[in-house]
Amino acid sequence: MNLDGTQRNAIVAALQAETWDLLVIGGGITGAGIALDAASRGMRVALVEMQDFASGTSSRSTKLIHGGLRYLKQLEFKLVHEVGQERAILHANAGHIVTPEKMLLPIIEGGTFGKWGVRIGLWVYDRLAGVKPEERRLMLSRDETAKTEPWLRKQGLKGAGLYNEYRTDDARLTVEVMKTAVSMGAIALNYGCVVALTYDVHGKINGASVKNAVLGDVFALKAHVVVNAAGPWVDGIREKDHSLQGKRLHHTKGVHLVVPRARLPLQHSVYFDVDGGRMIFAIPRGLWTYFGTTDTDYKGPLEDPAVTAADADYLIAAVNRMFPDARLERSMIESSWAGIRPLIHEDGKSPSQLSRKDELFFSETGLITIAGGKLTGFRKMAQKVVDVVAERRQATGQAPCKDCVTAHIQLSGFNFSAPTSIAAYADGLATQYKVLQEEVQWLASLYGSNTEEILRLAAGTDRLAILSGALRYSIRHEGVTRLGDFFVRRSAMLYFGRNWIAASLPTAREVFAEEYGLEYDPDPDMAFAKAYAQAVTFAE
Ligand code: FAD
Repeated sequence: MNLDGTQRNAIVAALQAETWDLLVIGGGITGAGIALDAASRGMRVALVEMQDFASGTSSRSTKLIHGGLRYLKQLEFKLVHEVGQERAILHANAGHIVTPEKMLLPIIEGGTFGKWGVRIGLWVYDRLAGVKPEERRLMLSRDETAKTEPWLRKQGLKGAGLYNEYRTDDARLTVEVMKTAVSMGAIALNYGCVVALTYDVHGKINGASVKNAVLGDVFALKAHVVVNAAGPWVDGIREKDHSLQGKRLHHTKGVHLVVPRARLPLQHSVYFDVDGGRMIFAIPRGLWTYFGTTDTDYKGPLEDPAVTAADADYLIAAVNRMFPDARLERSMIESSWAGIRPLIHEDGKSPSQLSRKDELFFSETGLITIAGGKLTGFRKMAQKVVDVVAERRQATGQAPCKDCVTAHIQLSGFNFSAPTSIAAYADGLATQYKVLQEEVQWLASLYGSNTEEILRLAAGTDRLAILSGALRYSIRHEGVTRLGDFFVRRSAMLYFGRNWIAASLPTAREVFAEEYGLEYDPDPDMAFAKAYAQAVTFAE
């Protein structure tokens, strides 16, 4: 069974038809990674997600697969080593959505990093992450830096370090991991919310009651082991389990803003500090540049956190200081997003001092919770969780599982029989299907080797026809159920291409009607209409 949104009833029936080895709660990158790891070791896995896949933090990050240079300052060598090494593994397995990106770290008079700090810091960073010699950091003089990134402020500029990181699309990475898990036998349902946990006569957890958010019914799901991978919501699940004691989450909010690339025409991603040592990324992506992030304590609702005027003004001022010619204003912002970091609370620490390490919590009922961590480290986090699940299975007399194999699994979208450049693949398809090169490049950067199927599904060769193919594919293979699933998390158009959405909506509604039936409403609660407005509205 694949992730076909129109087969929802069959998926719900399949979820109820057996007792699963493992039930995963949460369809962000953590849950998707666990489902893939467990399914690839031969376990029978069910996953439920209360919103759309990646609706939580996993579509609201800085979209970098990075080793976390700033964690060096906090002396978190093990973390930098572990996530740094993951970058190359993810690039090898998902080269269409994890791509190398040069990052410029400017050295500014009076800034947090001096010349020697950058030289030594990046040297250590490269070694910890196992970066190949030819890709290691370069130190640039003042003139070289100004030439490399002409919009950078010249006042106080002393030079820069240029080093290797990786860019991604967080929501697409999550969906590709989920699709791969499903191709290995896992069953995953979006819009399926765990409303209660269930227990056997000895008080041990044995499943969950799940509300089908599309039809409104509640069904029972049985499993030998239950993992709580609910990101910012993990404490809510621990509360349902009556096991919320000891360590708790500390929520912090991070905000990003998007401007047209012409307003901030960067050549590379730039990582710079603002007063007080907070670090900000400015990242070019196609026709846009986005920048962030803030890091502030957060106590509001976890679903759809808002960007406030204060958040926007802080980021705009920081960017204008570093790129004075940009002269950005709020009215120039084309889109934005806010995400909640599910960090583990440590007394006396400010948001940016809190560790990004992940931790496992075990409850007496048997619930396993995974909290904290980063997008970049999802594969190792999953391995840790599934090792515990495997031990538990073995303790009940079942045959041992094989060891983790995910380092060698190519994700959906990166199924090429020989080493292939995505750009060359896209150019070949553009010629074969007589479609504009830039359209195919856009598709391939999101869907990788599944692009050809999209072109086959497209009703023609113009932009709207291509969009209809992408949507049809995402309904049939990626569980797209609502407008926002496609425009926010499968195509990222709300963030990078928002001004093109209004013209696309009639086509999108037609495709939904063809796939789901004429009566189907793809935005019943106006969630997408609200998200569309919220992307450029900043609450005072
Ligand atoms: P989520 O993605 O939030 O997934 C949890 C899911 O559980 C949600 O989709 C939610 O709907 C679901 N859920 C909750 N309750 C229930 C329930 N009762 N039933 C069913 N489902 C439920 N990391 C990086 O490596 N690189 C970066 O560049 C980066 N930048 C970041 C920038 C910001 C601003 C933030 C906030 C984080 C950033 N991170 C980054 C960290 C990274 O994004 C997170 O660690 C990661 O996305 C967390 O994934 P998750 O699956 O644990 O949580």
